[in-house]
Amino acid sequence: MALDADIKAQLAQYLQLLEGDVLLKVSAGTDAVSAEMLALVEEIAGMSPRITVEKASLPKTPSFSVNRAGQADSGITFAGIPLGHEFTSLVLALLQVSGRPPKVEQKVIDQIKAIRGEYHFETYVSLSCHNCPDVVQALNVLSVLNPGITHTMIDGAAFKDEVESKNIMAVPSVYLNGEFFNSGRTSLEEILAKLGSQPDASELANKEPYDVLVIGGGPAGASAAIYAARKGIRTGIVAERFGGQVLDTLGIENFISVKYTEGPKLAASLEEHVNEYGVDVMKVQRAKRLEKKELIEVELESGAVLKSKTVILSTGARWRNVGVPGEAEFKNKGVAYCPHCDGPLFAGKHVAVIGGGNSGIEAAIDLAGVVKHVTVLEFLPELKADSVLQERLYSLPNVTVLKNVQTKEITGTDKVNGITYVDRETGAEHHTELQGVFVQIGLVPNTDWLGDTVERTRFGEIVVDRHGATNVPGVFAAGDCTNSPFKQIIISMGSGATAALGAFDYLIRN
Ligand SMILES: Cc1cc2nc3c(=O)[nH]c(=O)nc-3n(C[C@H](O)[C@H](O)[C@H](O)COP(=O)(O)OP(=O)(O)OC[C@H]3O[C@@H](n4cnc5c(N)ncnc54)[C@H](O)[C@@H]3O)c2cc1C
Repeated sequence: MALDADIKAQLAQYLQLLEGDVLLKVSAGTDAVSAEMLALVEEIAGMSPRITVEKASLPKTPSFSVNRAGQADSGITFAGIPLGHEFTSLVLALLQVSGRPPKVEQKVIDQIKAIRGEYHFETYVSLSCHNCPDVVQALNVLSVLNPGITHTMIDGAAFKDEVESKNIMAVPSVYLNGEFFNSGRTSLEEILAKLGSQPDASELANKEPYDVLVIGGGPAGASAAIYAARKGIRTGIVAERFGGQVLDTLGIENFISVKYTEGPKLAASLEEHVNEYGVDVMKVQRAKRLEKKELIEVELESGAVLKSKTVILSTGARWRNVGVPGEAEFKNKGVAYCPHCDGPLFAGKHVAVIGGGNSGIEAAIDLAGVVKHVTVLEFLPELKADSVLQERLYSLPNVTVLKNVQTKEITGTDKVNGITYVDRETGAEHHTELQGVFVQIGLVPNTDWLGDTVERTRFGEIVVDRHGATNVPGVFAAGDCTNSPFKQIIISMGSGATAALGAFDYLIRN
């Protein structure tokens, strides 16, 4: 039996929701993964009279496609076994193919249906990757809604030769018509934008001025938008990636009153909550210029200019690059930033973690359970991580810690083959052969686009007062992009609320 009792009980409930008959076409060989996949497919079919299984010859073995019985193939295929994080992708595919509409706004559905041409997507995933299901599910929605689009999820562990030959070292890695398309977590809207399918551009260009315009859709921006909209004033929010860093977070245990949640779940709740209040949400849009005139103007990369009486900047932060030769060249070819996602691709290999703070040491501990050996490189003479993490790290047999060293270069040919570092005490240069480098050296605020309009610290953080106000009248800021000493979800949400109330106060007085 492939499914445990809990999952089976949940699945039984979902299968009640099937709206039409589903045909699973299965391409299986004599290997162990094929046998396991067949067992899974047959077990699922055994749970609903609406599901039937048919042997077929598909381009990949083992794989199965999910189709509406009696209709043309949906284009959705799972190669390997969609358990782990991908189980939800399988359940949603079954429901959507059976006729249940995907939970997507009508304007996005129209956009997808209007795409012309043939698009064959393949997504390489690992079953422990929490960023992968969103991409798999988004591409499955495209397949369900548009007959010109197909999508195959491929479990890298079951198709190791393909992963090796394509040099895939980061998941999800998406290929379109055989060519590399994209890597990393990507929303449906981002995929559509990358395909050149944009919502009506004139819609953005002709917006009425806002009372409050929030730039950034992480916890700070979502909180600011909700607080502003609840005052009954015209509120808009521009977000490149709605959810922000929360999307890259696996377990969250310090979001007070919620003992445990996961990043993607919290990000979805943030969006749902914002949508409750009639906020004008502009996703997959990047702000590139801010100017204070009579109103405050924010220009987007699309060229549209939005106007508002007040603006709340909540553009958060991004991974800091180590900035050495090889980092950019080998990104996704051995240089990685997400241990949860990409760790499994380095199974049996030697990897480095650059950074000895909490995130670096947590990454090293996680990776040590998957890879052959982990070498930690810390610039300072001592690790900065909490002592409990250090104790755990030093108890592991397959970890080497190098302190007081400076990374000089990440070396490789078509992918990473080593790291060069300098011993800061002796000045001696060393080179270690390894196959992966995880960079974990903190974050930089996303504030470069502001030029010199708003006062910032030497680290680029926006300087705010107790009301979340910046030095520019009417411009407020919140969250990780500010000089708040601590960067956490709950702190960002609090500062988003402060900035919104500060902006409301400003509107009343001006
Ligand atoms: C791996 C990881 C794990 C973490 N774990 C935890 C944890 O367990 N608990 C905890 O409390 N905190 C955790 N944090 C920290 C927490 O995620 C952040 O403090 C929080 O997300 C900051 O929220 P924010 O809204 O200020 O910024 P962000 O979350 O960074 O959001 C910024 C938003 O602005 C958008 N944006 C950026 N530039 C532009 C632009 N020019 N135009 C338009 N939009 C733009 C982004 O797309 C995004 O929507 C973690 C962070 C990481 C990276």
